[in-house]
Amino acid sequence: MESMTFVLFGATGDLAKRKIFPALYNLFSDDKLPPVYSVVGIGRKEFTDVEFKTFIEQSLQTFSRRKPEDNSKLESFLRTFRYCRLDVTEKEGYQSLLKKIQEREQEFGIPENRMFYLSVAPEFFDVIALNIKESGLGATKGWKRLIIEKPFGHDLKSAQDLNNKLSQAFEENEIYRIDHYLGKPMVQNLEALGFANPVLRTLWNNQHIANVQITASETVGVEERASYYDHAGAIRDMVQNHMLQMLMMTAMHLPKQITAQDIRHEKRKVMESLRPLQKADVGNHVVRGQYGPGKINDYTVIGYREEPGVDVSSMTDTFVAARLWIDDPSWEGVPFYIRTGKRMREKSTRIVIEFKNTVKDLYIAQNESPVPNLLIIQVNPHEGVSLQLNRKNPLKSGHIEPVTVDFTSNTKDVPEAYELLLFDAVRGDSTFFAHWKEVELSWKWVQPVLEAFEENLLPLHQYPAGSDGPEASRQLLEEDGFQWWLDK
Ligand code: NAD
Repeated sequence: MESMTFVLFGATGDLAKRKIFPALYNLFSDDKLPPVYSVVGIGRKEFTDVEFKTFIEQSLQTFSRRKPEDNSKLESFLRTFRYCRLDVTEKEGYQSLLKKIQEREQEFGIPENRMFYLSVAPEFFDVIALNIKESGLGATKGWKRLIIEKPFGHDLKSAQDLNNKLSQAFEENEIYRIDHYLGKPMVQNLEALGFANPVLRTLWNNQHIANVQITASETVGVEERASYYDHAGAIRDMVQNHMLQMLMMTAMHLPKQITAQDIRHEKRKVMESLRPLQKADVGNHVVRGQYGPGKINDYTVIGYREEPGVDVSSMTDTFVAARLWIDDPSWEGVPFYIRTGKRMREKSTRIVIEFKNTVKDLYIAQNESPVPNLLIIQVNPHEGVSLQLNRKNPLKSGHIEPVTVDFTSNTKDVPEAYELLLFDAVRGDSTFFAHWKEVELSWKWVQPVLEAFEENLLPLHQYPAGSDGPEASRQLLEEDGFQWWLDK
């Protein structure tokens, strides 16, 4: 791994505190950072280097999966950090930042490899990229990389505008767009599961698969994010990025080689084959909902419109379910259902593959009905893979009943998404970052849905907090003779 400087914009913010510093510390503990590196944190606050290091230490004590075991280790980790107060909108400040970076590069003999992480509000993404270019920070003799947080645009046009601006300062292969779902170990595992297992590979097509169900449900409500969420809704917050990324990872074909380039090429082909929705037809394939009051784990919770910061007549979607079709010979006739919502009954991200039940009539004479085989990929909060099979239960007079074969291994101490992603970015591996084409094609698919929502062309179903979402979501699958699996 090459020595480098890590320049963190937004170093005093929530994401830095909760995810980025803990990820860096865990990588450091596992010897997964270059032997020599320097970190410069940037924020608006007046911080001395000492105050900044105290802030980082507190973040590790509160949020890291591993707590610093001893002071000397913590000190050697913190030794690499410096703070720079800078208003990112003011050009002049970038010169003193450049000077600070160069001094440390010289002091430690670090080549001009610079990784810029934009952990700031999206309105600053283009300004910072431009200032990096104009100040000379980006004119390195080594490599430069830009890590950028979500959201990438608010709709198709704003995403294209942002990308045009970023590409004036960085090449596509230098831009690492974070979709933290791609950092989740089980999502990364989809590749190995589907490609490294010939048995599953053989079954991964419309001859054997009846439908695919991708769910990301949360029990939390809008929390303190109303000012952002009320303008975004589940469609922008979850569907355009995380849900479609999981769909790509599930549906992609075997790449020529397991390389970033080939895998991203296959993902892009999935998006290119995704059947577009016409605005007028959105209501036939998409269900939108908004949570009302209800109960979660015996606690009474308020409805979305009563949440602080939310408009009392808000039409924002806190739930979206959709049926998607991939126009590709191997997925012809296989619906992909996605579903995501807040204030749902359970916190769970999972992908369920339902296999065709070709033997359901075989046992009619015995008055038995084998259930379909299911492959369940549990992404969050627990990681695991299980397979639902049928067996005869000797304790119940040999009746056929489903049994679950669980492949879950011990997942204690599994690295977090941000750890895996930062490690990849440091090594220059962009496999699990979103390519611009994936982002753009996702916005293209979502755009008519956004417009149909804005024009209220489909109902906004209320659902009680603590439920599995609106009844219309169940009906969406029932129309095709299916059901959401694992809903109790
Ligand atoms: P935050 O508001 O907590 O922090 C923002 C940071 O930007 C602070 O360090 C602040 O000092 C700095 N900043 C703001 N204006 C500045 C200016 N003019 N000049 C210099 N610095 C300035 O935000 P956050 O929650 O840490 O989010 C950062 C980014 O990460 C956003 O794009 C957000 O959408 C994304 N994100 C956050 C989370 C999360 O869990 N917090 C999750 C996913 C994505």
